[in-house]
Amino acid sequence: MATKFDVIVIGAGPAGYHAAIRAAQLGLKTACIDKWLDSNDKPAYGGTCLNVGCIPSKALLDASHKFSEAKNDFADIGIISKGLEIDVPVMIARKDTIVSNLTKGVAGLFKANGVTTFEGTAILHAGCSVEFTSHKGDKESLQADHIVIATGSVPVEIPPCPITDDLIVDSTGALDLSAVPKRLGVIGAGVIGLELGSVWNRLGSKVVVLEALDEFLPLVDAQVAREALKQFKKQGMDIRLGARVTGAEVKGKKVKVLYSDAEGEKSETFDVLVVAVGRKPYTQDLLAPDSGVTLDERGYIYVNDLCSTDAPGVYAVGDVVRGPMLAHKGMEEGLMVVERIAGKKPLVNYDCVPAVVYTHPEIAWVGKSEQELKANGEQYVTGSFPMAASGRAMAANDTVGLIKVIADAQTDRILGVHMIGAHTSELIAEAVIAMEFGASAEDLGLTMFAHPTLSEGLHEAALAVSGHAIHVVSKKRKK
Ligand code: FAD
Ligand code: AMP
Repeated sequence: MATKFDVIVIGAGPAGYHAAIRAAQLGLKTACIDKWLDSNDKPAYGGTCLNVGCIPSKALLDASHKFSEAKNDFADIGIISKGLEIDVPVMIARKDTIVSNLTKGVAGLFKANGVTTFEGTAILHAGCSVEFTSHKGDKESLQADHIVIATGSVPVEIPPCPITDDLIVDSTGALDLSAVPKRLGVIGAGVIGLELGSVWNRLGSKVVVLEALDEFLPLVDAQVAREALKQFKKQGMDIRLGARVTGAEVKGKKVKVLYSDAEGEKSETFDVLVVAVGRKPYTQDLLAPDSGVTLDERGYIYVNDLCSTDAPGVYAVGDVVRGPMLAHKGMEEGLMVVERIAGKKPLVNYDCVPAVVYTHPEIAWVGKSEQELKANGEQYVTGSFPMAASGRAMAANDTVGLIKVIADAQTDRILGVHMIGAHTSELIAEAVIAMEFGASAEDLGLTMFAHPTLSEGLHEAALAVSGHAIHVVSKKRKK
């Protein structure tokens, strides 16, 4: 006899654990099944995000940024930091402690909210029935009225560069290097490649990024992407565009990478190679032949706008379905699905998903880029503010970057906001709120911002849309 639940969530990454906790808060009898094991083979909730993604990468980005500031910028502000050293094992241990606190925190939240947990693997069958196998191999049949699949994603591997234990690593390995490699190769100039490349570049590695595309960060507003490339090169990262990796040979303690670019075949030798060529949806061993859940042509679970799959009562959320692979996108989908199961009617606003690259300067955006609007033939007006004109940025000795507001030429409604600069991962929230409420650039311009703050840059950029920024001179001023 199967144990019966209102909702079973498969996967306890950010999409799944948000769904499970909210379902329990709404009074639904909820179970969450997760198979993640940490490096000590202990179950750990939080999926990719908490264990090997968002959080550990930010722990290392923040630590390495502090080191880089102390090394390169402190003298500018009158702080002499002699004899600066890095203790990589301490840095990694601190990251591991943060991860462990957070994964235990999720376990605590499950308990406090009454979510029943199952540590092991789920296989979905027809009729919302689940075959659960614990890590020890014990089997149990579970049944629910509704299933939420949140099984996430895994790194893409490319045949020329199979992952080894220490020389050729994926993003997970790059978070756990035991020393700073002299020469670090990164394949892929996507968000993950740039973030992890930045960490080790700041700590002293000579970082070479090989990117097959000719364009740098094609999804980012082109003006912002240009500025980012300039800054990363200034920091010493050797970013080679149009460089497609075709092979890798491990020779002793080094890895020789073969790649081709417009000039022909080339090679580079590294102490460590990070393969960061993207992630793919993960559904391995999840769907029994009778599950009724279908995949799209790229391997994502097929869902509609409300995250319903083709199988009655079965939903899928997060990285395993279409859309940007971002933790917060999955969280919102997870919350939407269980709230709708409980009879509420929320929707996810896919036009307002913020995205951030946590390099320095940080890159953050929401809504449409100029190149997207141009391609769609939409009429728009922009207003920009350079961080170099911000008193607060000057005070902080961090004046790189800009904020750009894009508004509809007719209605003035904000269509997109693009930022590059310090703390833009935080500043972008103001733009998301404005867009979520359908604000115009004028609405933002009429809003009061505290002085002196970096967020005044957003205010000024919004004012600049109509040529009324105070600290930038504009030719397009309307009376
Ligand atoms: P996941 O987090 O992948 O969780 C899925 C869970 O399901 C896992 O625990 C898995 O073990 C479990 N599971 C899978 N199959 C089964 C099964 N059959 N039975 C039981 N359990 C199963 N995103 C951001 O928004 N911001 C960032 O700064 C950011 N940084 C990142 C940095 C790195 C290095 C990486 C790799 C990713 C980063 N991401 C970031 C992406 C983010 O981690 C993912 O978008 C997010 O974790 C996806 O959440 P999810 O819940 O859909 O899946
Ligand atoms: P993302 O999908 O944003 O994580 O970025 C991954 C990047 O890796 C993309 O920009 C791809 O173009 C790049 N990429 C994929 N395969 C290769 C390859 N063989 N050589 C170089 N770059 C690659």
